[in-house]
Amino acid sequence: MHEMAITQSLVDIIAEEMRAHRAGKLLNVRVQIGQMTAVVPDALRFCFDILTQHTPMAGAELIVEWVPVQARCESCERTFEVKDHAFVCPVCGRSAAATSAGRELSIVEIEVE
Ligand SMILES: [Zn+2]
Repeated sequence: MHEMAITQSLVDIIAEEMRAHRAGKLLNVRVQIGQMTAVVPDALRFCFDILTQHTPMAGAELIVEWVPVQARCESCERTFEVKDHAFVCPVCGRSAAATSAGRELSIVEIEVE
């Protein structure tokens, strides 16, 4: 399961952060996920609940923000947001290449006590 591996790496990073800050309990975590990662938010939450059982992270809220996919046209050098996987420049109609946006998965902030 794709989401389980992703969630495990998220949990590892959060655990590391909590140790560094000597935090006792995780309240919530905000993550940004690129639309191109094909992660299913419900599956992510499900995995998060399983992996954080019996840890200081149990019961924390997982807030997911989506990062839109962007592409850049090499002909007119315009950067635009890709919708419905249409990698076509809205200005000149040529096909464009995806930039890195939309592939990432990162933790924006964690709230602890
Ligand atoms: Zn163009």
